[in-house]
Amino acid sequence: MNASMTAALEVREQDRLAVSPPELPDNTPDRGSGRRLLANALRMLAIDAVEAANSGHPGMPMGMADIAEALWRRHLRHNPTDPGWPDRDRFVLSNGHGSMLLYALLHLTGYDLPMEELRRFRQLGSRTPGHPEFGVTPGVETTTGPLGQGLANAVGMALAERLLGAEFNRPGHRIVDHRTFCFVGDGCLMEGISHESCSLAGALGLEKLVVFYDDNGISIDGPVAGWFTDDTAQRFEAYGWRVIRQVDGHDAYALDAAIDEALAPRGKPTLVCCRTVIGHGSPNRAGTAEAHGAPLGSAEIAATRAALGWNSPPFELPDEVRAGWDARRRGAATQADWQARFDAYADAHPQAGAEFLRRMRGDLPESFASSADAWIGTVAARAEAMATRKASQQAIGALAGLLPELLGGSADLTGSNLTDWRGSGGRHLHYGVREFAMAAVMNGIALHGGLLPFGGTFLAFSDYARNGLRLSALMGLRVVHVFTHDGIGLGEDGPTHQPVEHAASLRLIPNLDVWRPCDALETAVAWRAAVENTDGPTALLLSRQTLPAQIGVDRARDAARGGYVLADDELLDVTLIATGSEVAIAMEARRLLADRDIAARIVSMPCCEVFDRQDPAWRRAVLPDRIPRLAVEAGATGLWRAHVGLDGDVVGLDRYGESAPAADLYRHFGITAEVVAERAQRLCSHRS
Ligand SMILES: [Mg+2]
Repeated sequence: MNASMTAALEVREQDRLAVSPPELPDNTPDRGSGRRLLANALRMLAIDAVEAANSGHPGMPMGMADIAEALWRRHLRHNPTDPGWPDRDRFVLSNGHGSMLLYALLHLTGYDLPMEELRRFRQLGSRTPGHPEFGVTPGVETTTGPLGQGLANAVGMALAERLLGAEFNRPGHRIVDHRTFCFVGDGCLMEGISHESCSLAGALGLEKLVVFYDDNGISIDGPVAGWFTDDTAQRFEAYGWRVIRQVDGHDAYALDAAIDEALAPRGKPTLVCCRTVIGHGSPNRAGTAEAHGAPLGSAEIAATRAALGWNSPPFELPDEVRAGWDARRRGAATQADWQARFDAYADAHPQAGAEFLRRMRGDLPESFASSADAWIGTVAARAEAMATRKASQQAIGALAGLLPELLGGSADLTGSNLTDWRGSGGRHLHYGVREFAMAAVMNGIALHGGLLPFGGTFLAFSDYARNGLRLSALMGLRVVHVFTHDGIGLGEDGPTHQPVEHAASLRLIPNLDVWRPCDALETAVAWRAAVENTDGPTALLLSRQTLPAQIGVDRARDAARGGYVLADDELLDVTLIATGSEVAIAMEARRLLADRDIAARIVSMPCCEVFDRQDPAWRRAVLPDRIPRLAVEAGATGLWRAHVGLDGDVVGLDRYGESAPAADLYRHFGITAEVVAERAQRLCSHRS
């Protein structure tokens, strides 16, 4: 990140809510009973929904209900009737097992989540799944559950807000100016990704990020004192965060004061440490791990009702509770205030206003398709031999000129994976050696909208990032992973750095397209496909070593179908299927076979997923029945069995690599044109 990006933005004092929330009359002499009643509504909805489902997690919603009341009623700028307006505050429930807290908040504040859905908590087809899922429930900003990743998503959202503000705000006009709030539990902070992402957030000084730590001293196994004794406050201060310590998480007024302090700009992200009791309100379960992940049971629920003075039956709410929570009117007023500011901005800067809206919709520019055609035509005409990582860098440079939303980055190794480009300016991030955080932060950036993130590392380290990739695929996010050094061809760094099972294992992730292009043209096609893949992530597997340009007509069109005929003969004896660096080996094998009067078709298959989605006519035309097939890829062979069939063969690598020059390794492991020709000839002789 360069200086212009990191330059501290002057931050206006957080807008007050346009309309104050209604106060409830205190029915008892003690201050705050009205607010406790509202918080208890969250507790009771959570308890009763978990009981109805006979599964779920009541402890966290009961423990964080007072924090939620303070944040959601007093500070969160959102509009239940328009959950997607661009400048809303983002709220992330990183401890996603407490999903009923979020569903109760969404229902009570007026989102389109009727009580019927709360009754159907965790049931098939409901909008209240066990963990919050993006795209299923209005108002859910990200899918959370794997602990710590929501926190990293929140870092990504706060980063996106910062970058878009720097790009679009103008003197006198602040159209991007919102907070990102996140709830975390002990589990989130134990997971390593919390370190990666919060260390990065501290370095970047993301001051509009406010995280609430549910410090209850309990995780599933019991009191955390035996396994989690970090001084969390000191840990976050060491990251460069502002820490607000020892807030009573059950005192609404103490929470108000802490939030006010957290919103005052300080150039740092803020952690609010809230002392809470898990299962607060349950006479016999509060403060114990038993409150965490199981229904309380009818006897304890009755005891909790009595203890909280809650007289309503399950899923019924007193009118004053409904009125106290309803945020639709003030949400609409808050959004209307932004809309007026945006309209003034769009009047003064019409082009930027239209561009901002396009970017937030995630649409490509109208001219993109024709510009991409022209660019790919140029790549085809040049037909240059180069490493596909180098071709990727050129593709990034070309795309960056067409797509101002493209936001690059790398988990270190920038000079190796070639993810930076000439003139990138503030559009390339150094994520540091933090592959998992990079993946999850990119998910947060994509969820925020307005930017199209890509990030690079070595393919062998995709394992570190894997659960982030899985969640981007699950959520259907447009995120591009640049994985270079894609096999034994990387040479001397040896087996720790040589991916073997990675291509196959990435292909097993549903809704992830995995491209392994064979030359510069296929790399350009793959990049275009990644950019146009609006409902899922893409992995690009790229070579360290130089690869020859393949020659053929209509290759750009055909390669976009994932698998196609690269070289052919009229009377076929055998079909060779190859990807990436092994396409050149297959082409050489074809020449050797021709010398033996064996006619081989070469199928380049840069993306199995895209090929498998083609109509049967295309697939049969590329892989004709009754012609034996052999696949060659310098990696795990198992998945290729599906494409070569029971009588086919696969030349690959089902063991770990070695440290040696690349050419020696290919010979050593028998991934050569000679071996491929030999095995192909054997297939043909079996047949005759
Ligand atoms: Mg805990």
